[in-house]
Amino acid sequence: MRYTSTRDAGHSATLAQAIARGLAPDGGLYVPEEFPELDEAHFAGAESLAEVAARLLAPFFAGDELAPALDDICAEAFSFPVPLKELRGSTAVLELFHGPTAAFKDVGARFLAACMSRIAEADPRPLTLLVATSGDTGGAVAAAFHGRPGVEVAVLFPAGMVSPRQEKQLTAWGGNVRAFAVRGDFDACQRLVKGAMADPALRARRRLSSANSINVGRLLPQMAYYAWASLAYRARHGTDPGFVIPTGNLGNAAAALWARRCGLPVREVVLATNANPAVTAFFGGSPWTPHPTLATLATAMDVGSASNMERVVHLFGGEARTRDALRAFRVDDGEIRRVIRDGPAAWGEVWDPHTAVAVAVRERLDAPHWIVVATAHPAKFEAVVEPLIGREVPVPPDLARLLDRPGHAEQIAPDLEAFRAALG
Ligand SMILES: *Cc1c(COP(=O)(O)O)cnc(C)c1O
Repeated sequence: MRYTSTRDAGHSATLAQAIARGLAPDGGLYVPEEFPELDEAHFAGAESLAEVAARLLAPFFAGDELAPALDDICAEAFSFPVPLKELRGSTAVLELFHGPTAAFKDVGARFLAACMSRIAEADPRPLTLLVATSGDTGGAVAAAFHGRPGVEVAVLFPAGMVSPRQEKQLTAWGGNVRAFAVRGDFDACQRLVKGAMADPALRARRRLSSANSINVGRLLPQMAYYAWASLAYRARHGTDPGFVIPTGNLGNAAAALWARRCGLPVREVVLATNANPAVTAFFGGSPWTPHPTLATLATAMDVGSASNMERVVHLFGGEARTRDALRAFRVDDGEIRRVIRDGPAAWGEVWDPHTAVAVAVRERLDAPHWIVVATAHPAKFEAVVEPLIGREVPVPPDLARLLDRPGHAEQIAPDLEAFRAALG
């Protein structure tokens, strides 16, 4: 299998090259050049999520230097449970938040780490991964690469602008993970990463790469839980489920659509966004254009211009066809609060603000048989959730252990010179 750029199919790469590069040379995103047609027989006998993932991804690894390691990579990445819980009203919830940092980004980050650490490199300089984060991504990447030999991780976050628990997930690792508190906003962090990647002095000393969400190595493993959950739902209920997905950069939703394209029993994919209007404006008929980012309670979905829209439009073959194929709904902060407040009585669940966006959309849909995708544990967003439900949310053990450790971040000014000096 080869991977081509969304912008020019002439730019083609092996999987290992696509993962190592991140972005295609023309600025496009790597996509598989074709999708295999996989029937239920292809998954016969595969029971665990790791086994389903290995079967699903085998055609996507075919012929690549990483192919012999696929089973090990899947076992490493899918080492935590992903329960599919039945709720009332022919609704189920797929809990993707039982990984080390209690958010779904653990899946993609762990898979990417397992792949990157196996890609043979002739270059003897150590690999430094730069990650600008407004919260969840940096923690997941730090957790996934912590303790891996030959890789150093530099996490850049806006000082004072992430929640205390998120900050711990960025700063409590030590060892090969360094945290930089940048005196600026998230955009300033992103500018520093871009500037560093292009800086000749830094590049002379270090092999620099990034682990942001456009890497195909983060998207491929996310297909696996859609395969596993749709097959499990079909086996239990004899019918194909639809998925309602809390959406920001559209990476999670793009993976669901790729799984559907491979023939998995996914009836429909519904996009649930917070108040940021870019996605719903597009589905309402406007051309795809970036919007300024609005701050909402579902912070990890505060995106003005979803980077993976390019992959989705490429998959369907144009903007008009994409509009015909998908539905999207927008949920404001007032509704997020209502859904969290009503969660225990209405569903028997405590929702985090991101999952609450998807639950609000599920409540608007008439047809039965929906799987709501739960992307974060409510204990990560206790400052929003606890006042609404009037009690404390128990902290999962992995998160509790991390919160007990001391955090350390190096404060830097938002300019490249300061970052270059600090990184060394
Ligand atoms: C990143 C994130 C999302 C959005 O996922 P995308 O792939 O960017 O659409 C939703 N919920 C949580 C908790 C996240 O961290």
